[in-house]
Amino acid sequence: MSLLLYNTLTRRKDVFRPIDPQNVRMYVCGPTVYDYAHIGNARPAIVFDLLFRLLRHVYGDTHVTYVRNITDVDDKINARAADEGVSIRDLTERTAAQYHADLKALNCLPPTIEPRATEHIGQMKKMIETLVENGCAYVAEDHVLFAVASMKDYGRLSGRSLDEMIAGARVEVAPYKRDAMDFVLWKPSKPGEPGWDSPCGIAVQGRPGWHIECSAMSETHLGKTFDIHGGGIDLTFPHHENELAQSRCAHGTDMMASVWMHNGFLQVEGRKMSKSEGNFITIHQLLETETFGGRKWPGDVLRLAMLMTHYREPIDFSVRKLEQAEATLAGWRRTLSEFEGVTPEMSGRFVEILSDDLNTPQAITWMHECAGDAKGGEGAVAAAALLAAGDLLGIALRVSNEISDAARKLVEERLAFIREKNWAEADRIRDALREQGIQLKDGKDPATGERVTTWEVMQ
Ligand code: AMP
Ligand code: ZN
Repeated sequence: MSLLLYNTLTRRKDVFRPIDPQNVRMYVCGPTVYDYAHIGNARPAIVFDLLFRLLRHVYGDTHVTYVRNITDVDDKINARAADEGVSIRDLTERTAAQYHADLKALNCLPPTIEPRATEHIGQMKKMIETLVENGCAYVAEDHVLFAVASMKDYGRLSGRSLDEMIAGARVEVAPYKRDAMDFVLWKPSKPGEPGWDSPCGIAVQGRPGWHIECSAMSETHLGKTFDIHGGGIDLTFPHHENELAQSRCAHGTDMMASVWMHNGFLQVEGRKMSKSEGNFITIHQLLETETFGGRKWPGDVLRLAMLMTHYREPIDFSVRKLEQAEATLAGWRRTLSEFEGVTPEMSGRFVEILSDDLNTPQAITWMHECAGDAKGGEGAVAAAALLAAGDLLGIALRVSNEISDAARKLVEERLAFIREKNWAEADRIRDALREQGIQLKDGKDPATGERVTTWEVMQ
C-alpha cells in the first residue's frame, strides 16, 4: 500500500518515497510565541500530528523525526513584551507553555524536537555567510539581503508571477535593495531590541529575518534535504518560497524537502477570523471558558471537528460542527462500552483511506460504518477496528475511569479535611481535581455507613 500526499511543489498527489525509510523527516513551521494560539493555529498542529501518527504507524514509532520550531525572535514579540513591561524571555516562556498545554488538550503528540530560533543564531549566521560567498546574498546598509535574481526558478513553489509575488509579499521598497523582491536575511537591531553580533563583518548588532530561522533549524535537525515540509497555506509565499531559496542556494542542492504540504484556512461561523470582526477565538478560550456557544468544549471534540473536513479544504468552524462532533464521539463511545474486553485491531482499509492524502472525512464515514456493524452482526471485530481507528486519529474512544496516584492521594487528603470539617481545603481539592477533568461524588458506604468518595473522569 502506498502513501499518497498532495505536494504543493508538483501540484498533484505524489507517492511518498522517504529518502531514508529508517528515518522519515518532517519539518513544520511552529508558532511565533507572543500570545495564546487561535483556533486557526490549531489546524496545522492537528493535521501534522495526524500525519506524524500515520508515518509512525507505517514506518515504525522510532523511524520518524518530527521537528516543529518555536519562533521566539520577532517584532510582535518585542512589541508585546514592551507593552506588558515584561522581559522577552518571560513572555516567550509563558506563551510556549500555554501552547504546549493547548496542544496537549488537543491530544497532539510532542514533536521529536522543538528547536527555538534564539538557540540557532550561530547556524543562521553561518548560512548567511555561505549565501554571500556563493553570490546569492549581499550586504547593504548593515542588512544582508537575498538576491532573488541569483536563483533561476525562484517562485516555483508558489507558482506566482513576479507581479503577484510583489503584491503578495507586500515588499518593503528600500533604496538599498538591488531588486524589489530581495528579502532580508539579517537586519540591524533598533535600540532596545534583541541583538546579536552580526555576520559578514557588519559592525552593528542585528537579528535574523524570519525565513532564515527555519532554514537553519531544519538543516541543524534534519539535514540539508529531508522528506516533508508543512504549514498553513498562507506560508507558501513568501515564507516557504524564501526558505526553499535560501536552503537550496546555501547547500547547492536542487531541493529542500521532497513534499511541501499546506493546510487550508479556517474561518469562524462563516467569516474570516479577526479581532475586529469579534470572532477571534483562542484554543484556550474554547477549552476553558464559555466564549463560544456559551460553554466549554473538550479537546477531543475540537480535534474531531477539525478532522471532519479534509485538511486542504477551507473549514468553517461553528458551534454546529462542534455539536455534531460531540454527538459522534458520544455515539461511538456508547457503542464501544458494550465491548469491554475487546482490544484495538487496526484495519488495513482504514490505513488505506488515511494514506490517500489524509482523507479524514472518508475515514470518519468508515468509522460510522464500523460502529453500525458493531451494533449489528459483526460485533467484536468491528468494535476492535473502530477502537484502533480512534487511536490512529488521536481520539480515545474508550474512556477509562483510572486516575493517577497523585490524584488518588488528593482524594484521600480531601477525606481527611472533611473529617476535620475543613470545608475550605476540601473544596479547594475538589476544584483542583475538576480542573484535571476528575469529578468527585461524595456518598456513604451502605454497609458501613462510612463516608466514601467516588469519581468520574470527564471527557
Ligand atoms: P502564525 O503564528 O500566524 O505564523 O501561524 C502558525 C501556523 O498556523 C501557520 O502554519 C499558519 O499557516 C497557521 N494558520 C494561521 N492562521 C490560520 C487559519 N485561520 N487557518 C488555518 N491555519 C492557520
Ligand atoms: Zn518556517
